[in-house]
Amino acid sequence: MPVEIAPGIHQLATDYPHVCGLPLWLHVIEAGSELVLLDSGIASTPESSTAPELAALGMGLSDLTLVVNSHAHPDHMGGNAVLRRHGAARFAAPALEAGWLEDNERLLTELWGSDPDVMSLSGAERSELLDMLDERVRIDVLLRDGDVLPGDRPLRVITTSGHSPGHIAVLDEASRTLFTFDDAQGRGRPFLDSSLWLAPLYTDVARYTTGLTRLLELDFDTVVPSHGDPMDATAGRNLVQESLEWVFSVDELAAKLLRTRGSLTVRELAAAIGTDLGAYGGINLQTVRMARAHLDQLSRQGEAIPRWHQPD
Ligand SMILES: [Zn+2]
Repeated sequence: MPVEIAPGIHQLATDYPHVCGLPLWLHVIEAGSELVLLDSGIASTPESSTAPELAALGMGLSDLTLVVNSHAHPDHMGGNAVLRRHGAARFAAPALEAGWLEDNERLLTELWGSDPDVMSLSGAERSELLDMLDERVRIDVLLRDGDVLPGDRPLRVITTSGHSPGHIAVLDEASRTLFTFDDAQGRGRPFLDSSLWLAPLYTDVARYTTGLTRLLELDFDTVVPSHGDPMDATAGRNLVQESLEWVFSVDELAAKLLRTRGSLTVRELAAAIGTDLGAYGGINLQTVRMARAHLDQLSRQGEAIPRWHQPD
């Protein structure tokens, strides 16, 4: 059943916990002339979850007029094609990620395939991802930092970047509700059905910390993440601080390993992040992207010299 977390803002359950073992909430906002859905879940979400959740509110998928994708990850945009088939809603998403939002191949190549020496998708993993992504939908409204979403409610877009290159937060200035989606990740999140944790994910250290710091400067009473429960301002600020502390702990780990070993590969750092800093399952998308981000940062600071793999 939907929960009204602020006047006119309803939290909707999804099928994601059953499919991927993590909580995921979508939100629908009554904004006068617009009925706004924040994120679309994976391909199966609109029909399995969003439609019945909206029905409990006396609404349907065809009543939605605007779908906002916070960033181009499958659990935030995979439902776009089904939503397009069910109605006439326009789609709004970060201008910086339109390429990923409109092209599955490009997303798979650039996100999962960024470090082919360390990680590549198996055929099964590829088809699992493509199932969650469905067909892509052309984005109608390209969002930039400072934009206000259409409708009769002050919903402001803040580009946080970091977790994903164009990731946005949305602040409802009327109820002082800040939707942070995946940006404030703390030390990651435990899977519901195992002892492992999902590690944080970011692709650029400085962009991630700058975006987190921007969140701290905003005025809000409630923080709403995609993969957890809403929290008050103090708890939200603590989560952002914890996210920043995580970055420093990876910084320290990378510097220590580089000092003791003399050189450090993406694979070595990803494995260390994924085991030494917690039960994150070693090498995976999250730890590889973080390792790459921290090594890039070390080379930008002149503390390491990048050496690219030379094919034999
Ligand atoms: Zn994400």
